[in-house]
Amino acid sequence: MKRICVFCGSSPGTGDQYMDAAGKLGLALLGHNLSLVYGGAGVGLMGVIANTFMENNGEVVGVIPKALFDKEVACTYLTDLRVVDTMHERKSLMAELSDGFIAMPGGLGTIEEFFEVLTWAQLGIHQKPCGILNVNGYFDRLTDFLDHAVSQRFIGKDCRSLVLMDHDPEILIQKMKAYQAPEVDKAKWALGMVQS
Ligand code: AMP
Repeated sequence: MKRICVFCGSSPGTGDQYMDAAGKLGLALLGHNLSLVYGGAGVGLMGVIANTFMENNGEVVGVIPKALFDKEVACTYLTDLRVVDTMHERKSLMAELSDGFIAMPGGLGTIEEFFEVLTWAQLGIHQKPCGILNVNGYFDRLTDFLDHAVSQRFIGKDCRSLVLMDHDPEILIQKMKAYQAPEVDKAKWALGMVQS
C-alpha cells in the first residue's frame, strides 16, 4: 500500500476527541510512509488530517469539485490539489489513486463515499481494503445494523467481512496491510446459489 484515501467529516463533531483522532490517524499513516488521498477540504476532520500530513512533510493529494472549492475552503497548499467537475469524478479519481480506504467519523458525505467503495469491493470491481476507524464508538450502531442485515440475509457473511474496523489507527493499518480480498460472488449469493 502506498496511498490511503481517508473519508471523514467536513465538520469537527463534538469536543476534541474526533479532531484529535484525525491527527493521530495522520501520524499513524505517516509512520508507515503512506501518502494521503482525501477530498481536498480545509475544514473539520478533513482539514486536520491534511494539515497533519503537510506539517510532517507527508504527501497529500486532494480532490475537490469546483462547486465546493470555496464552500469547503479548499486546501491550496497540498502536494497536489486536483479540481474536478463533478462529485462522481471526485470519487472515481480518489478511488483510482488509492490502495485502500479508511472512513473516520463524518456525516452523509463520509458514509456515502465509504459505502460506495465498499459496494465496489462487493462487486469485485477492486480488491482494496476498506477500514473504519471507530473513534469513541461512533460507528457502533452501524456495526449493529450491518450484523442485522446479515441476520436478515440482505448482506452475505463474506461481504460483511469486507469491513475492517478498529478504534486504534495502528491496528487498523495493520489489518489493512494483512488484508486479502475474499472471493465475493454477490450475484450468486443474491440468487441464493451459495450458503452464506
Ligand atoms: P460530510 O461527511 O457530510 O461532512 O462530508 C465529507 C466529505 O464528503 C465532504 O468533502 C463532502 O463534500 C463530501 N461529499 C458529500 N456528498 C458527496 C457525494 N455525493 N459524493 C462525493 N463526495 C461527497
